[in-house]
Amino acid sequence: MKLQEYHAKRLLLAQGLPVPDYSVAQTVAEAKAAATTYFAAGADRVVIKAQVLVGGRGKAGGVKLAATAQEAEQVAARILGMDIKGTTVRRVLVAPAADIVAEYYLACVLDRAARKVMLMGSAEGGVEIEVVAAERPDAIKQLHAHPLLGLLDHHARRMAFALGLGSTHLREFVTIAKGLYATMIVNDADLVEINPLAIVNTPSGVELQCLDAKVTIDDSALDRHSELEAMRDIAEEDPVDVEAREQGLSFIRLEGNIGCMVNGAGLAMTTMDLIKRAGGEPANFLDIGGGAKHDKVAAAMALILADTHVKAILVNIFGGIARGDEVAHGLVDARRMQERHVPMVVRIVGTNADEAARILSEAGDPDLQTAASLDDAVEKAVAAATAAVVAA
Ligand code: GDP
Ligand code: MN
Repeated sequence: MKLQEYHAKRLLLAQGLPVPDYSVAQTVAEAKAAATTYFAAGADRVVIKAQVLVGGRGKAGGVKLAATAQEAEQVAARILGMDIKGTTVRRVLVAPAADIVAEYYLACVLDRAARKVMLMGSAEGGVEIEVVAAERPDAIKQLHAHPLLGLLDHHARRMAFALGLGSTHLREFVTIAKGLYATMIVNDADLVEINPLAIVNTPSGVELQCLDAKVTIDDSALDRHSELEAMRDIAEEDPVDVEAREQGLSFIRLEGNIGCMVNGAGLAMTTMDLIKRAGGEPANFLDIGGGAKHDKVAAAMALILADTHVKAILVNIFGGIARGDEVAHGLVDARRMQERHVPMVVRIVGTNADEAARILSEAGDPDLQTAASLDDAVEKAVAAATAAVVAA
């Protein structure tokens, strides 16, 4: 789960990192009021930043400076409601503008291959790091934190020297790097990125400040972070993902045309493998979970059909806690409500499988086939999808 900048900065502040004061505004009036407060407190300029979960806001016109409250009002009016890469801006961050001397990049990421947290830094901050990585990979410095001891002072010092920050800002940098690492660990983040980490002129001297923040939380860890779950921005998520989560379904959209409904993640993976082996392509991964009830089955069916690429549906249920008859009833009801008729192959074994078979055959649905084995089911589903493609 990606966090908006204003939430990400809150997590950095909680770890004692230097983040300039900021406010969040949903209306032009709120943005103007925040700017007025900062000007009254002595700011020369304010920065107004679109809060959207996409990168490169600056380039897209979503980050602007203003020298007066009136100008801040005009800028906020332009940015609020603006479309940035398909996302409508509904909030802006307003902050006293930093007087930037130089921009750096600093991030903690999970290096899955090394099974360690990696600290990444570059003296070429401010620009998109993907561009730096592609054009000048040498400009990106990397080192790993210790898997048990974490990011130690000597790691941070090494990075500071590699970035040319060793002489004047060493201590500040070490605190920031360790704070980044702490932010990552405390929140179970996959990524904590500051771009730019800037050298800034302030009335009290020249110092390092975190001017932008990007944090991605490990979805699997959200159960133990209700405070982070509350930061979720549903308006910017794929509606299909939102629906799946609300229904308690694990759903991942894929490229193919055979919709899958399976109980159990392992069985779902196996089903996808078998579809591929039979020459088909799964349209999704979908685990309806153990003990799936009638309404869950209907919700799962709706999710599958929402994908217009789906040409056939394969239902593979191993009844244990989930009862075959319950799933069959759910399927039959869902079929009745369907607007789009897609051939469906159902294999239900285990608890109440006979009852399930009876319910399915009594439904009298010509597009609904049952299968005796998993291989048979997969073969029929691939054939149905192929036939639909040929017919189209
Ligand atoms: P991004 O484009 O989405 O990464 O948004 P950023 O917050 O990183 O802003 C983009 C660029 O705007 C930065 O690299 C800076 O050059 C500039 N910028 C951001 N905040 C300030 C600020 O407070 N003062 C000044 N002078 N420039 C800023
Ligand atoms: Mn940035």
